[in-house]
This record gives sequence, structure tokens and C-alpha cells, in this order.
Amino acid sequence: MPKKVAVVTGGAGFVGSYLCDKLIKKDFKVICLDNIITGKKENIGHLLNNKDFTFIKHNVSKYINIPGRVDYVLHFASPASPIDYLKLPIQTLKVGSLGTHNALGLAKKKNAVFLLASTSEVYGDPLVHPQPEEYWGNVNPVGLRGCYDESKRFAEAITMAYHRIHNIDTKIVRIFNVYGPRMRINDGRVIPNFIYQALNNKPITIYGKGKQSRSFCYIADMIEGIYRLMLSSTNNPVNLGNSNEFTILELAKILLRITGSKSRIKFTDLPQDDPKQRRPDITRAKKLLKWQPKIELEEGLFLTIEWFKDRLALFC
Ligand code: UDP
Repeated sequence: MPKKVAVVTGGAGFVGSYLCDKLIKKDFKVICLDNIITGKKENIGHLLNNKDFTFIKHNVSKYINIPGRVDYVLHFASPASPIDYLKLPIQTLKVGSLGTHNALGLAKKKNAVFLLASTSEVYGDPLVHPQPEEYWGNVNPVGLRGCYDESKRFAEAITMAYHRIHNIDTKIVRIFNVYGPRMRINDGRVIPNFIYQALNNKPITIYGKGKQSRSFCYIADMIEGIYRLMLSSTNNPVNLGNSNEFTILELAKILLRITGSKSRIKFTDLPQDDPKQRRPDITRAKKLLKWQPKIELEEGLFLTIEWFKDRLALFC
């Protein structure tokens, strides 16, 4: 039987590149599209000589032309770190809107299954805790995070419209704070920032008082959940994340302890619209996908720290 073909947009990014790995392992042919504005060729370097893997440098906000059969379109292209999308608000809005439209158009033309990488940011600064998929969110459309939050909300809406009008088999994953090796040390997110600071004995920059909470999911758990969702029959959004919640101050203390760092903690201003709390309700994923995370925070942090240690020389 010929191998199934999956197109992964944003396939050179942090999550996208692990998804490419998983699909290759599961015997798919993978076509990876990325314009490398926040992704890195290095993330897919080990795949470039694989005959089942093709990399095409392309901005998916422009028309996507893929010859031949395609069975799955997995749309992971987008800046995803607050620092990145604050620098690239227009590209972020375009890839969430035009890019999603193009990726859906490809899925329609090829009669492929479509999966959208959405985000816990669709819930904004949530007034319901933990967040179930039925919650509609609390988003400031004109705030600094609006470019990302609204582009993903639009992406979800157009995905459902293609499902309802064109009968495309679509899936939506809402990803909650995923972390692990291959994150850019300078991408601005809290775990790479704190690891870099702790390993270099630089001040740990806590925004606000550190009372805001997040729930961190290790990349291997996330990829397993995404793969199960892709093969599932559900068309409704599914939250994927770890339901163990930590304040940012707690995270800083854990990292200081496990790295043995001498860094001090430095409190700075809280960015605009920074969500005060975030924890996924994963009842739906447990029921539909028989999935739940297995890797505890300290174990995942340890694996991530080891990976960063090997690369830190480049940044010091
Ligand atoms: N944060 C922090 N110090 C940093 C980076 C982030 O205190 O150096 C906080 C940030 O304000 C937020 C949380 O950590 O409350 C998670 O931030 P991140 O950028 O990782 O992702 P978010 O969940 O906000 O999209």
C-alpha cells in the first residue's frame, strides 16, 4: 500500500518539527512547508536526507501548490511566542487568516483531513477556570496579544466553515503551554528564558509578582495527543495540555533548585493582557483520544535543561 502523505505547515518550527518526526516514524511521507521566520532548518536537519521527507521553503500566507496526492494537511505555521508575535503582528495575522485559508483550500482540493494548531490563547484572560472547550473566552481584540488570539479565533471559525460548507474532515487542537528541546533559547517564553538565566546565573525575570499560573506540557506528550487527534473522528476543538498548574514564581523556584543556580529573582512589569490563570480541562481528550500527559514537570524540565546546556555556548 502506498504511504499516506502529510503536509505540515510550520514543519521547521518547535512543534511542527516533532510532528514531522512522528509522522516519518509512523511511515508517512511528509512535505514540510516553512518560511523560516521563527522556525529553524536545524530542527529538521536530521530529516533532510530521508527519501520520505521533503522540505519546501514557502510562506503559506501565499497560495500553496503541492502536486500529487495529499491525505493530511496539518497547519502549524505561526509565530507562537508573545515576543515573536509582538514583533511580527501582521505576519501572525496573515498566517492565521490567509495561511489557514490556503491550507484549507489545499485540503479541499486534495480531499484531505485538515488539522489546525490552535491555542489556549483563544480563551484570552479566562474568567472560567480550568478552561473547557465550551468556554468562549475573554479576549481583547485591540490589545498587543490580539494579533495572535484573533488570528487563531478566525482560523477556528474558517476551519468550522470549511467543515460545515465543504464537508472537509477538520480537527482543531487547542495547545496549552508546550515546552521542550528545540525551543529557541531567546524565543521569549518563560521556560527558555528562565533556563537561560538560571544556567548563566543571570537574574530570573518574573513579570508582575509571579502569581499568574500556567500548566506546562512536555512536547512528547503533546505530539502523541496531536497524532491521536489527527486519526480520530471528532471535528470539535480538543484541548491538549497538562493539567498540573504552577504559578510563575513556583516555576522559577523549581528551576533554581534543579539547576543549582545562584540567580536572584528580579520582578518586572507584567505585560498587557497577560492571562492571570491557565489550566486546560482535558476531559474531552481523555474520553475521545484516551490521552493524558505522562511526563511530570520536573522530568520534562530536566530533559529540556540537558538539551539547552549542550547549545548554550552559542549564546553566552
Ligand atoms: N514570564 C515571566 N518571565 C519571563 C517570561 C514570561 O514571568 O521571562 C511570564 C509571562 O508574563 C506569563 C508566563 O510567564 O505570565 C508565561 O509566558 P509565556 O511567554 O511562556 O507564554 P504565555 O502563556 O503567556 O503565552
